[in-house]
Amino acid sequence: MRRLDGRAQTGKGSAPLRIAIVGSGGAAFAAALKAAEQGASVTMIERGTLGGTCVNVGCVPSKIMIRAAHVAHLRRHSPFDAGLSAVPPVVDRKRLLAQQQGRVNELRHAKYEGILESNPAITLMRGEARFRNGHTLAVRLAGGVETDSRTLALENVPRALANFDTRGFIKLVAEAGTGRLLGAQMVAAQAGDAIQAAALAIRSGMTVDDLAGQLFPYLTMVEGLKLCAQTFSKDVKQLSCCAG
Ligand SMILES: Cc1cc2nc3c(=O)[nH]c(=O)nc-3n(C[C@H](O)[C@H](O)[C@H](O)COP(=O)(O)OP(=O)(O)OC[C@H]3O[C@@H](n4cnc5c(N)ncnc54)[C@H](O)[C@@H]3O)c2cc1C
Repeated sequence: MRRLDGRAQTGKGSAPLRIAIVGSGGAAFAAALKAAEQGASVTMIERGTLGGTCVNVGCVPSKIMIRAAHVAHLRRHSPFDAGLSAVPPVVDRKRLLAQQQGRVNELRHAKYEGILESNPAITLMRGEARFRNGHTLAVRLAGGVETDSRTLALENVPRALANFDTRGFIKLVAEAGTGRLLGAQMVAAQAGDAIQAAALAIRSGMTVDDLAGQLFPYLTMVEGLKLCAQTFSKDVKQLSCCAG
């Protein structure tokens, strides 16, 4: 069994121990830094965003939004309202998200990308790791698919207008160049029913143009998928409401 006690060695000669770490989150970086400090050569394998949960979608972004919510609450109500007038804030979600993402990007650079850049003993491999057996780790290298995406606000979907509830959006992701559908996201009333149409379109290898050319029943939420597909080549605001 290999051990990292003192200067890491393979046991034969002085070749540095080579270590593979699956993931690039906080735990992976702590392990990689310790191993590199002990003289090992480390390969980190990441299938998603460098930095893992904490910096990208966990601790950091959540604390920023919790802090913003706290400030919003204090503007509405605080123990000093008698002397400092309370003003309910106007929430601009887009700007708040941009501010949150900016800080996330800064921290990811400082705490993760920067460490990789300054530590030649740690290298990053992009792909999905899987143990074949107790001794073999296989990595399916990331293809580096270039994507194109569109997000349609529900105020562009006739069903949502008829419902007087335009909260939400539909997002489609396609392969750049071919337009092949890769993913769909829907935040809307009845999204659970409508999303299956997107799943079938992806499964059958449809492109955004294929989807945009399909007939969808008018005044249904699923029609939003077609409208979103049309935004890859048209401004949906210019279409007749019953354009089919
Ligand atoms: C909303 C939220 C708020 C949180 N707030 C806090 C907080 O305030 N304080 C706190 O201490 N903790 C908090 N946590 C928990 C904290 O984020 C996690 O405990 C921590 O990020 C776990 O780190 P990790 O390195 O073990 O895993 P992760 O950061 O999840 O990293 C795992 C990485 O491995 C990659 N991976 C997985 N399988 C494979 C594979 N087969 N091949 C290649 N790559 C793979 C994943 O893509 C991922 O990047 C929060 C979590 C969430 C979701």
